[in-house]
Amino acid sequence: MRFHRIIVPTPFYVGPVNVYLIEEDPLTLIDAGPRDDASLEGLRSGLSRLGHKFSDIKRIIISHAHADHYGLAQLVVEESGAAVYIHEWDAPAVSAEMDYGSYRALLTLAGVPKETIDHMEAGYEKFRGFAHPLARVETLKDEDEILFDHESLTVVHTPGHTPGSICLVRTSNRMVFASDTVLKTITPNPVLSPDPIDQKKRFQSLGEYLVSLARIRALAPTVLKGGHGEDVTDYNEHFHRMFRFTKERQSKLVALLPKNGATAWEASMLLFPNAHGYHRFLALSETVAHLDYAVGESKLVIDRTGESENYLLPQPTLSQQYYRNDF
Ligand SMILES: [Zn+2]
Ligand SMILES: [Zn+2]
Repeated sequence: MRFHRIIVPTPFYVGPVNVYLIEEDPLTLIDAGPRDDASLEGLRSGLSRLGHKFSDIKRIIISHAHADHYGLAQLVVEESGAAVYIHEWDAPAVSAEMDYGSYRALLTLAGVPKETIDHMEAGYEKFRGFAHPLARVETLKDEDEILFDHESLTVVHTPGHTPGSICLVRTSNRMVFASDTVLKTITPNPVLSPDPIDQKKRFQSLGEYLVSLARIRALAPTVLKGGHGEDVTDYNEHFHRMFRFTKERQSKLVALLPKNGATAWEASMLLFPNAHGYHRFLALSETVAHLDYAVGESKLVIDRTGESENYLLPQPTLSQQYYRNDF
């Protein structure tokens, strides 16, 4: 399988995004970069250096619904008529209909003040400006095969960073196009999002993410090509480092919680006191994910008496109290 990496600049803090061109029949792009003049120029010139133009592209696979990965896809479609594929759980987020209502409910539940929610909405709309909504997408499911003339890539659904994040696996040599699920130097943010099955619920991003990492491990990957930066060639080391990092962050967060508990918003201020602007939202996402994961592990409980949820240390049971008093 012939493929090339095209490094497309982005205006974001994360830096350039890796787009891959699979130079087989049908000519396929994995991701496209954000909607931005410099990114557009970067993608066009990257393709042209390889002897191709937008109109040659037959298919675009979107790894997940973030603007830095799908923002330019619609422009490529308009010049080429290429078919666009994305996992079914991320498909609603790349359409024009996506609205902020479900996020507003989740932010209220997390204890975010109303004026901050309005502020975050403005930031969300601005971020969405870096992507053309996609007029039409074909949806992917776990274990779908992306067929080429002589080979195929297998879709592995790896929810976590977003609900519909996917990896593409070349089974012949266990190479994985991992996008933002496995990044060499960045811990991917488990971005706060509604559950794709029940929009009123929060997607359990960190718990899902850790399961996804374990699933990738079972594939015994030889090399993982991330959405930003260089390849990961020692997945076992990466896997253990991510689990250690998660455990350490969880212990730190649980220890920081005041006696009477805290909302996710308050806890995010304790864990990331210096985050501003869009990073405040990412800090909140990270905190909610770790709090929910701690609840899943019975290290915290959720009390929901008011409009927002309060995370608390579990109260000792009656028998534990007797045990403590007696001895
Ligand atoms: Zn992403
Ligand atoms: Zn990214």
